[in-house]
Amino acid sequence: MKSYINRLYDTYIGSETGLKDLHRSSLVNAVVVFPNYYGVAMSNLGFLKVYELINNSGFISCDRAFLQDDISKGIISIEKRKRLLSYDLIFFSLSYENDIYNILKIYEAEGIPFLSKHRDKTFPLIAAGGVIAFLNPEPAAPLFDLLFVGEAEAIFPDFFDIIKNNSIIIIKNKTDKFDIIEEAKKIEGIYVPSGYDFIFSKSNRLALEDIKVKQSYPAKVKRKWFAGFTSSTSAVTTRYSELSSMNMIEIARGCKRGCRFCSAGYIYLPSRESSTETVLNGISMTKNGNRVGFVGLAAMDNDNIKNYMVHSLKSNIMFSLSSVRFDCLDENNVELMRNSGLKTVTLGVETGSERIKKVINKNIENDAVITAVRRIIEGGIINIKTYFMVGLPLEEQKDIEDTIKLIKAMRQEFIDASKKEGRIGNLTVGLSPFVPKAWTPLQWKNFEDVKILKKKIDFISKQLSDLPNLKLNINSVKAAYIEAFFARGSRISLEVLIRSFKSGLSIKKSIGSVGFREEDFMREFSIDELLPWEIIDQGLSKKYLIDEYKTALEFKITPGCFDGCKRCGIC
Ligand code: SF4
Repeated sequence: MKSYINRLYDTYIGSETGLKDLHRSSLVNAVVVFPNYYGVAMSNLGFLKVYELINNSGFISCDRAFLQDDISKGIISIEKRKRLLSYDLIFFSLSYENDIYNILKIYEAEGIPFLSKHRDKTFPLIAAGGVIAFLNPEPAAPLFDLLFVGEAEAIFPDFFDIIKNNSIIIIKNKTDKFDIIEEAKKIEGIYVPSGYDFIFSKSNRLALEDIKVKQSYPAKVKRKWFAGFTSSTSAVTTRYSELSSMNMIEIARGCKRGCRFCSAGYIYLPSRESSTETVLNGISMTKNGNRVGFVGLAAMDNDNIKNYMVHSLKSNIMFSLSSVRFDCLDENNVELMRNSGLKTVTLGVETGSERIKKVINKNIENDAVITAVRRIIEGGIINIKTYFMVGLPLEEQKDIEDTIKLIKAMRQEFIDASKKEGRIGNLTVGLSPFVPKAWTPLQWKNFEDVKILKKKIDFISKQLSDLPNLKLNINSVKAAYIEAFFARGSRISLEVLIRSFKSGLSIKKSIGSVGFREEDFMREFSIDELLPWEIIDQGLSKKYLIDEYKTALEFKITPGCFDGCKRCGIC
């Protein structure tokens, strides 16, 4: 009788399309692990891209593994049903701060010592990539032998050369990973955490005083971005992913808008558009019955988005868009979305306060939001999902009241327009606590005090939760707190996490048990401080970020990227 996980994985594999297009070669065996469940992993284009790139290397066969409900018998790969330690190479794909906890669960289930320094040559090389690896890798860095800082397409070719040159050793000796690490540390975009000692102040153990670089390691690890970027599409699709049966097509990377809270907007700079040909090709290659999902931070900013939507419809392929800027919603775009069967449009509004819009550099008038609501409903799409934030820097009671006022006005417009159309769907308002992120101009700002945050959320809730036709989804303060703990964390955060994992105490209690105060992790940072994530050279000048921070505090707007601009150091 097959185990539950084997039966489940049989079902998943049976639902997948695209697998056979990969060119596996089994000279070296690798597994890419997503530290969350199958459904989450399979809707992550970065994870699928890495899986595809490794399999198409010409000499590595790569399987996938995920977090499982029952880990008592270890973690197995979905393809060969093999345990992680039987592979020559293990790659982790890190997309969310809160998944760092799951890495410990996976390591424990597989009997892998948590810290790289405690694993001898009998353990395979364990590497990690993904957004977290180049946003702020520090709270996870000591768990890995090396991390990929930047975009996989740009770093993998050089890394694969090293693996290929060492493949005979890998096969015969079950890898001498230390030779590989020694060579890999010289490659741009590869971070070997053991080459750096983070020195914290004796008087204030959380203040980073210095990063001591060991001999022959680069002073900083340069983020490598892919200049030859064209586009990515889902290598495998399945109806069991959170984005059921969707072929994701990346139509742009980076964003020119410069919203000051958005880390992805900064670390994927410069903003690049996919080549029209590859996107159109990706649409045409979409398998029967699958939808297309256009992925990109500002999908509607893309010069060719109309062309892509029209091409999909002409090819009888329905499409979705991740999130839509309401200032890009004209009647024609709404009509194309409706014709694609889209029942919900998602809008990131963030705040209704004119002051706070200037702080976050997202200056779109409330009237434009209301107009977008009417346009969507009149255009025949019945549901609208919106995102707002609470606990933003410089936020006062009046700003929260302005947000409530805007939501109420949106609801009224939604109801009036829906009545005219003779049908009504749902207006959903998602509310999330603001989490300051590394490499954004708001990185120095504190995470709001949890008690104040809860009070603010209660106030908003009381005003909005009983209103008909409005669904309020409040994101957990606890989850945001943990995200904030890691987002600007250091190697000390990992010490706290390991203690929490071993003792079963919450992160909050573990912080206290190792002699720290919670507020030390959530505090406002000084612009003169050395920050743990400055081990990375993003290409972004610190002066630019500081100037942007000061501009935010003065409630001033900065225009987005423009031709000939050189101000942030990326171009
Ligand atoms: S240099 Fe200017 S155009 Fe280039 S990424 Fe920075 S802000 Fe944008």
